Amino acid sequence: MIPARFDYDVAESVDHAIELLGAGGGDAKLLAGGHSLVPALKLRIARPAKLVDIGRLSDLAYVRDGGTHVAIGALTRHATVAADDTLAEHCPIVSFTAGQIGDPQVRHCGTLGGTLAHGDPASDMPAVMLALGADLVARGKGGERVIAATDFFTGVFETALAPDEVLVEARVPKLAGSTGWSYMKASRRAQDWATVGVAALVHRDNGSIAGASIGLVNMGGTPLRAKAAEDALAGGTSAADAAMLVTDGAQPPSDHAGSSEYRAHLAQVMARRALEQALGD
Ligand SMILES: Cc1cc2nc3c(=O)[nH]c(=O)nc-3n(C[C@H](O)[C@H](O)[C@H](O)COP(=O)(O)OP(=O)(O)OC[C@H]3O[C@@H](n4cnc5c(N)ncnc54)[C@H](O)[C@@H]3O)c2cc1C
Repeated sequence: MIPARFDYDVAESVDHAIELLGAGGGDAKLLAGGHSLVPALKLRIARPAKLVDIGRLSDLAYVRDGGTHVAIGALTRHATVAADDTLAEHCPIVSFTAGQIGDPQVRHCGTLGGTLAHGDPASDMPAVMLALGADLVARGKGGERVIAATDFFTGVFETALAPDEVLVEARVPKLAGSTGWSYMKASRRAQDWATVGVAALVHRDNGSIAGASIGLVNMGGTPLRAKAAEDALAGGTSAADAAMLVTDGAQPPSDHAGSSEYRAHLAQVMARRALEQALGD
């Protein structure tokens, strides 16, 4: 398929990108790695009047130690996130998950900002950001604002970003050594999107479970937190029994990869395995 006609501008800086988006009157879109937007253009699911290419803004590609958190620039490619030593040391669930996205080509082109701003409930990283309680930094003509991951994903392919805002950074908390983690993904083919994915973090205090957070991929219109299962685990319920609660409040879709009922069952199985791995059982 050939995309519908669009204008194309190259942004020289983040401020320039914001200016170009503003001039687009709400009908302009940023182009980062292009690995979600270009297929959508070709299928004519997306028909923006203008593309603003931010792919050359190298100052948005970084991983930095921010003290209590690790800051990741929005234009950091998945492959860079996957190989980063700072993340491997302080927040390994992020680097591990980046290595599970697509295939090497996808990981070398796709960006962290792109996968978050795209708002696809089938993407891996949004559920990880949700489980971590990450902060996402957006810049617009009024300056920067920090959006909690819990407030960022608002619907299928929808986020809290305004049409003229650029996502510039994600801040992920450093995990304590006593925090166990797991990201598990079930897909029909290798290198594919998750039919269901589960991100699990289990926090321990003096050996006892002090809290848990669980993020779900493809179990609703947005990435979801499995609160009932988190509370049960923190209250002493076994991983196997807590995992049965991950479907509470979920609305898994039915599509070519599986029915809603299949996804619900799969989520419970994946959650049990992810919690057991996070617990080190
Ligand atoms: C074959 C294939 C397999 C894939 N497999 C997986 C998979 O297993 N798991 C997975 O999670 N993903 C998968 N993906 C998607 C991949 O991760 C994409 O790279 C990612 O979703 C989008 O990143 P991008 O940089 O390419 O963004 P683009 O395609 O350039 O943009 C996506 C959207 O985000 C917006 N955007 C981009 N950057 C910003 C920003 N900084 N601020 C505001 N808005 C922005 C764009 O305007 C657009 O609407 C796959 C893609 C392909 C083609």
